[in-house]
Amino acid sequence: MIELPPVPGRIAGLPRDPRGYPVPAENLWQQGKPQLAVQDFRRCGALYAHGACAVCGLPLTPGETLYRLFSHDEAEQTVKQDACKRADGPGHRDCMIFSGATCPFFATAGARRTYESRETAKGTPRGATAALLGFAAVQIAMTQEPPHAVWFHYGGVEEHITFTTGDEMAALLTASEAPRGPGAIRKYWKTEPEVKRAWAQTLKLAARHGTAMPG
Ligand SMILES: [Zn+2]
Repeated sequence: MIELPPVPGRIAGLPRDPRGYPVPAENLWQQGKPQLAVQDFRRCGALYAHGACAVCGLPLTPGETLYRLFSHDEAEQTVKQDACKRADGPGHRDCMIFSGATCPFFATAGARRTYESRETAKGTPRGATAALLGFAAVQIAMTQEPPHAVWFHYGGVEEHITFTTGDEMAALLTASEAPRGPGAIRKYWKTEPEVKRAWAQTLKLAARHGTAMPG
């Protein structure tokens, strides 16, 4: 089993892959196996439309700063424009810090993406540094026609942490209690029928509201 940094309570209850890595709610599952390198656009869209974090699947609090990790170049451009458009949705601060500490792409200087990603070409470099950015607002936009592209418009940079190694992110983490009560209801879909149902609901929300927005 791999050694993990301190695990925030929201992350602790996530399913793990065979190596012991928690599997984010936005990741694809195929035949019961999590695909840590593949974000599923249906899960990305459904999570945010349901007001849930892309990583842990637990509720985001209305008004809280919304976070995502960025490669060096993406971060520079985003900070300059105070906005960006991405294919993946936002999450809690702790959850994104945990991802920054453990995700091989973000935790390693000079890393390259070795998988197909919809917003960046294969082999995109992370750069000498990566960044955690926090935003005031994120809007989701969906194309109704197949293949149902989902886009997230991030705006208003409120926090900007640059880091070189995953250890720097790990140092920001503390193990914490898992939330209880309404804050503990997790959106997580392991099987195709479950995710198809959630995605159909998301498209209905989008049809009713133009763009689906969490409460
Ligand atoms: Zn979270």
